Amino acid sequence: MTIKNKVVVITGASSGIGKATTEVLAKAGAHVVIGARRKDRLAEIAAEFGGDQVVYQETDVTNRDSVKSLVDLAQSTFGKVDVLYNNAGLMPVSPLADLKVDEWERMIDVNIKGVLYGIAAVLPIMIAQKHGHIITTDSVAGHVVHPGTAVYAGTKYAIQAIMDGLRQEQVDHHIRTTMISPGAVETELYRTISDEKTREQIKVQEQTAGLSAADVAHAVAYAIDQPQNVAINEILLRPINQRT
Ligand code: NDP
Repeated sequence: MTIKNKVVVITGASSGIGKATTEVLAKAGAHVVIGARRKDRLAEIAAEFGGDQVVYQETDVTNRDSVKSLVDLAQSTFGKVDVLYNNAGLMPVSPLADLKVDEWERMIDVNIKGVLYGIAAVLPIMIAQKHGHIITTDSVAGHVVHPGTAVYAGTKYAIQAIMDGLRQEQVDHHIRTTMISPGAVETELYRTISDEKTREQIKVQEQTAGLSAADVAHAVAYAIDQPQNVAINEILLRPINQRT
């Protein structure tokens, strides 16, 4: 079974990579269940696909019940969950000495705990089905750290450990895992940076040299569109002119 008729749950689908992936997968015939906090955006995306192929629910990944409820919606609407794409994330980068402790906590809550809540919501279903696929958006920042990115990179390095542990634990249940690690992508992510100068720098970098969100969505689709015996465990993709 490839993309067609698979049931895919996507968090962080109201913009950027999650939105683009919804579009690519829906066009390829998947049933897509999308969540994020901005319900109006989700409604617009779902409306494009007529309502029975893409369904949505307001979701806050920092709330375990909210994530479970999104997965329950997939189960009750389509009867199964083939793929969970943990994609919601934010990147308020800043030097540690700025002590933006609230932002560190938000990154941990969304980028790590949000992913764990997603895994907790689908794992019992996928174990019972004896198949499933859990994908998480990691980052080049999960492989390389720079001054200013310590906490963001820390959350993305954590994804490496969590996803590889999950992979090793679940081989007997035929649950596939994939980490998607993009370099700069042109999305709304820069808006989560509170320091104005850094925000402007990252915005320009993403808008002038970044991958498109669709480029990343095609990588996600590639990982999903494999025969059942093939697990694409990691995809690292940079814009061609990104050095580190
Ligand atoms: P966007 O800002 O465009 O998208 C982020 C998505 O996450 C939005 O849909 C947002 O929706 C959602 N989100 C944020 N907080 C929450 C929350 N508490 N609950 C539910 N959803 C939430 O940026 P991207 O598309 O770039 O980001 C997607 C992922 O890609 C992130 O994990 C990011 O770290 C990663 N990434 C991005 C790169 C880039 O250069 N852009 C590079 C490498 C990785 P809403 O606000 O409506 O809740």
